[in-house]
Amino acid sequence: MKVRARSGDSFWYYSQLFRIPLNLITDSNPDLNPARLQIGQEIEIPGFISRSYTIRENDTFWKLSATGNMSVDALLLLNQNVNPNQLKAGENILLPVRVTSPIVNGKREYNYQVLQADINKLKEIYPFLNINLIGKSVFGLPIQQIRLGNGQKKVQMNASFHANEWITTSILMSYLNTFLLSLTNSTLIRGLSTLPLYNSVDLTIIPMVNPDGVNLVLNGPPEEMRESVMKINKGSTDYTGWKGNIRGIDLNKQFPAKWEIEKERKEPKAPAPRDYPGDTPLTEPEAIEMANLARMIDFDRMLAFHTQGKEFYWGYEGLEPSESERIANEFARVSGYKSVRYIDSHAGYRDWFIQEFRRPGFTIELGEGTNPLPLSQFDQIYEEVLGIFLAALYM
Ligand SMILES: [Zn+2]
Repeated sequence: MKVRARSGDSFWYYSQLFRIPLNLITDSNPDLNPARLQIGQEIEIPGFISRSYTIRENDTFWKLSATGNMSVDALLLLNQNVNPNQLKAGENILLPVRVTSPIVNGKREYNYQVLQADINKLKEIYPFLNINLIGKSVFGLPIQQIRLGNGQKKVQMNASFHANEWITTSILMSYLNTFLLSLTNSTLIRGLSTLPLYNSVDLTIIPMVNPDGVNLVLNGPPEEMRESVMKINKGSTDYTGWKGNIRGIDLNKQFPAKWEIEKERKEPKAPAPRDYPGDTPLTEPEAIEMANLARMIDFDRMLAFHTQGKEFYWGYEGLEPSESERIANEFARVSGYKSVRYIDSHAGYRDWFIQEFRRPGFTIELGEGTNPLPLSQFDQIYEEVLGIFLAALYM
């Protein structure tokens, strides 16, 4: 919600007026100098939207403030051109409305367009989110980074490396929304106050690494690529088994961590719906961009969300630091998921991340069954893994 500064206003005052943590207001207005607010300057108040209201007979700001549980001065601030002593029935004013319910509805077919619409809405309500483009997919869809937090500990979480595992995106976006609601409303999640987490982490979320693949599984191929995609799919129009990007390359088999082993032993020797590691490592834009991101931001830890198996992997070739085990134990404790140190797999983003940076990296296998997991599992997965989302921030 946007307001205009008046004489004597300050971020601190807005923080009191709207009961929003001060640093969320500061972070929502990165270009303003809090010590020198100019009269008339536009200021973002996170966690609120404004709603139009038509004055009725006998309405006063004092009555409206009492019924709407808001201070009179909040109404005065939003309606600086209105004379509160001469309200006229039929006149429109603005009411500040605290946002207390989620924008993200993860329990639906969560394709790229749904994600994009949710990111736009979240950015509007929570302007302290930074939305960056890390690159584009083969088909030219943006691969976005959502970045938030005021702290030192750099945490990356990503979802939908694999096309038919798109439920990971809707789960991760739902966690983000829960976290945001708890920040602006000062409510606890599982007994945890989240503002200290916000102040200690620098969280990067890549909600959809493989947007072309997700859209292929959910919507079918784009017209321009129908022929090439159908050829890779051996003539079938059923894309539910598709894991790779839209060129039929498995993005989680693209990284230079014993890539040759996967190249040798994986069955497909040409582009395929799943498991083809490419002709060489890092040929695909989505994989290259994820590697560049990790090289650019020195992440302290990384979580990759996949489906399925109700377990998570945390070791790679003995290169993982000792800290990984400590975090893994906590993940197991809060989720009930099985902690697995080593699996016989290479060339994944996590494998490469651990090998390259010697930092804790985790693959979390959400839910149980055959991919794509049905949305009927959403609530259960959400509850089981919420603790891992939080532990990744507080550990
Ligand atoms: Zn996967």
